[in-house]
Amino acid sequence: MTAEPASPLLTHVLGDLHALQVPIPYPMKYVTVLIDRPAGGPVTMIDTALDTPEARQAIEDGLGALGLHWADVDRVIITHHHPDHYGLAGVVEERSGASVHMLDVEIGRGERYWHLWEEWLPGHLKHMRDHGLPAESLNDMGADNRRGRERVHPAARVQPLREGQHVTLSGLEWEVLWLPGHADGHLGLWNEQQSVLIAGDAILPRISPNVGLYAYTRPDPLGDYLQTLGKLEALNPARAVVGHHGPVMEGVQARARELRGHHHERLDFMKAEAAREARSAYDLSLVMFNRELNVSGRRFALAETLAHLEHLRLLGQLYRTWNEPRGVWLYHA
Ligand SMILES: [Zn+2]
Ligand SMILES: [Zn+2]
Repeated sequence: MTAEPASPLLTHVLGDLHALQVPIPYPMKYVTVLIDRPAGGPVTMIDTALDTPEARQAIEDGLGALGLHWADVDRVIITHHHPDHYGLAGVVEERSGASVHMLDVEIGRGERYWHLWEEWLPGHLKHMRDHGLPAESLNDMGADNRRGRERVHPAARVQPLREGQHVTLSGLEWEVLWLPGHADGHLGLWNEQQSVLIAGDAILPRISPNVGLYAYTRPDPLGDYLQTLGKLEALNPARAVVGHHGPVMEGVQARARELRGHHHERLDFMKAEAAREARSAYDLSLVMFNRELNVSGRRFALAETLAHLEHLRLLGQLYRTWNEPRGVWLYHA
C-alpha cells in the first residue's frame, strides 16, 4: 500500500518516487528533493537541499508523510555539488548511515571544493580580481562565500557513479547520464521506458541555469553546456524532474532549443561588445547583466559572462591581453 502524500509540497512522480519541494533562501524559493520508497527495497534520497532549519524541517515532514524518518534513508544520490543540492548530504549520512553517491567527475571537482575550501578561496578571489572585479566587491564576495560554506555539510565518504552505469529506483532501471555545463560533473538519471529524466539543474523552466567559469571548473563550461543541450534535445524526454520551478516539467526538447538560442544570442552580443571596445569580463558583465544585483548575483553575472567570453576565445573568435597597469585581462576582437 502506498501512503497518499499528506504534505502539499510532496508530488507523486511515478511508482514509489516522490518529489518534495524544500524551501531555500534563494530567489528560486524551493529545491526538489526526491524520495524513493519501494516496498521492501532501499530508500533513496536524490539531492538534499541547503542546510537551514526550514529545510531540515521540510525534509523531516516529507519523510514523515511517506512513513519514514531520517534513519530509514539507505542511499543518497547527488545531482551536483551546489550548496542547494548538496548542503545536507553529510547530515543525512550521519543520521542514517546512508551511502552517498555522485558522478565520478563531480567528486574530483565540485565535491572536493567543499573539503579544500580554505585552500581554494584565495585562488577563487584572485581569478575574480584578474577578471576585473573591484576590490570592495572582493571582500563582500569572500564574506558571502563564507556564509554559503556554513550551510554545507559535506559527506565523509562519497562513492562514484559512472556515466552509462545503471541504478534501480522504484523497481526500474535508470541510466546515469553526464550532463556538464551548469556543474562539471552534473548527473542525470534516465528511464527510457517511462521517458522520464531526473534532471537536477541541467535544464530548468523559467530560468536559464547559470553556466559559470570559476577557478576550479573545466575550461569551457559553456561549450560543455551547449553539448548537454544537444544531448537533451536528442533524448526528448516526455517529462523531467527538475531542481527548481518544478518539480516536473514537460517540453524539454523545446526548452533545450530555446536555451541554445539564448546562449547563441548572448555569444553574438559579447562578440560585438568586445569588438567595439576592449574590456574586462567584469565590465562586460555590467553590459550583459545591466540591472541591480546583490553580491552573489554579481558573482554569477561575472562567471557567466566569463564562460561566454572564454568559449569565444577558445573558438578563436575573441582574444585576451593582460593589461599590466590595471592588473586585468581585457577581451577584444
Ligand atoms: Zn545548481
Ligand atoms: Zn540548484
